[in-house]
Amino acid sequence: APIVSVQNLTKTYGNGFQALKGVDLEIHEGEILALLGPNGAGKTTLISIICGIVNASAGQVLVGGHDVVRDFRQARSLIGLVPQELTTDMFETVWNTVSFSRGVYGKKPNPQVIEQVLRDLSLWSKKDNMLRELSGGMKRRVLIAKALAHEPKILFLDEPTAGVDVNLRREMWQVVEKLRANGVTIILTTHYIEEAEEIADRVGVINGGKLLLIEEKNALMRKL
Ligand code: ADP
Ligand code: ADP
Repeated sequence: APIVSVQNLTKTYGNGFQALKGVDLEIHEGEILALLGPNGAGKTTLISIICGIVNASAGQVLVGGHDVVRDFRQARSLIGLVPQELTTDMFETVWNTVSFSRGVYGKKPNPQVIEQVLRDLSLWSKKDNMLRELSGGMKRRVLIAKALAHEPKILFLDEPTAGVDVNLRREMWQVVEKLRANGVTIILTTHYIEEAEEIADRVGVINGGKLLLIEEKNALMRKL
């Protein structure tokens, strides 16, 4: 069974704008799926609904078999979401920021898990630093660490490399590969075709609120 199943999802915002127009999608356990599309395509809306933080107008999302609306807590505990923007207290330490995030999901404190997450993201030596003292790349890794602190099985990254330089983009790609090697299922949105080409197993192309096609990367790249 797919780890995430999306059926006939539509979203009309309060102003009447139809951001999703009937999206069906199955996400396989262990894959890296890139959702590729231009700005305004509906990518953020789609992942926000899958993660249960925006309500769909119609359709259904199952995460690990749990309905994301009806069984929000069970569904959400399986998901980590890395937002586009840094919305974190810059005067807090790395350790406290990531530990606190685990508590938000109602999980008991577990210093071993936090240590492992920080080591995986090469942040261990910075655990006592305040976020304001970190480089841009490290701050982005803290956002990922926050999303992993409750040990989710599925990680969503919204435009993880929008507006970053080439070196930082490569660094982010390596982080994603490493997390997948740890067994995490990864879905990322991007408007960079090279990014989908570099790290995805499958690519879904989104535009105008529709999933236009979804294919194994190699099959898709032969067509483009
Ligand atoms: P909903 O229909 O889901 O309740 P709303 O239309 O009420 O959503 O908008 C929710 C929030 O998103 C509001 O704060 C609104 O200002 C903001 N918003 C409105 N239009 C846009 C847009 N085009 N892009 C991003 N955010 C928007
Ligand atoms: P993407 O992530 O692909 O750039 P989004 O899902 O953010 O696309 O937005 C899809 C469309 O929905 C855009 O045209 C955006 O302006 C619009 N939109 C997003 N949020 C809102 C909102 N809260 N209210 C009204 N329109 C919105």
